[in-house]
Amino acid sequence: LTREGFSTIPDVTWDDIGGLDHVREAFYHHVIRRFKFPEECKGFENCLETGFLLYGPPGCGKTLVAQAVANEARVNFIHVEGPELLSKYVGETEKAIRELFSRARMCSPCIVFFDEVDALTTKRGEQGAWVVERPLNQLLIELSGGKKRDGVIVIAATNRPHMMDPAVQRAGRFGRHIHVPLPNSDQRHSILKALAKDFRVDPSIDLNAIARMESCENRSGADLASLVKEAGLAAFTDANSDSKQRTIKMVHFEQAFSKLKPSLTNQ
Ligand code: ATP
Repeated sequence: LTREGFSTIPDVTWDDIGGLDHVREAFYHHVIRRFKFPEECKGFENCLETGFLLYGPPGCGKTLVAQAVANEARVNFIHVEGPELLSKYVGETEKAIRELFSRARMCSPCIVFFDEVDALTTKRGEQGAWVVERPLNQLLIELSGGKKRDGVIVIAATNRPHMMDPAVQRAGRFGRHIHVPLPNSDQRHSILKALAKDFRVDPSIDLNAIARMESCENRSGADLASLVKEAGLAAFTDANSDSKQRTIKMVHFEQAFSKLKPSLTNQ
């Protein structure tokens, strides 16, 4: 588990993220104020959550959010994938979970980002769920602070919240659930703005109009990122424009739209 090995402060900021102001707001009160202004939190600690579940379709910014929270709070970040723990440590998954939390306590204050957490938290009693029963119990022990959870915030993510055991969702575990939805047209506009700042976009481009185009519907943040990248490449390789003054124009976006279809069709 190499990635799990490091803990550093990520460089993603809220400027890189579009359309998730409601998510930022929740984390501001529960996490940012706790770490940045602890004196303001005295006497209110018990209303602040330490476990969060971000749920919603793939590619809509769950990972980015967790990274931006760690960046804003200036705390370490540990990224772990549910299935990685499960498959790598057959029979030793509980140990891996214990070690993860003990490492987290060592580099506290920190945020543990648990992606695809549903792999470890399948409803008990469901077919196949016996495989994860003991790891699930271990996770519950850690989340309930069997040992003190000093300065360790857990942000878990799932595309399949309905698959998760209800016990994991209680207060003190992943007590706060935050929806990270497929973006609507206003949110697509802010995502496009966030993405466009890293590209040379022609001043004639109207990102708001693009966000509202029918061909932009059902596109996730990740789809929009691929779209802007593809439009960038179309501009970069465009034989019709002067190589010193290349910018991304509408024609390049059109090429990108016709090449890339939304990844989520049934949302
Ligand atoms: P998964 O469930 O597949 O892990 P996720 O919800 O964690 O997906 P991210 O990994 O955060 O999604 O997003 C993937 C990429 O898509 C980001 O690196 C970024 O380029 C782009 N992206 C997604 N959502 C947003 C957003 N709200 N604002 C800006 N970029 C976004």
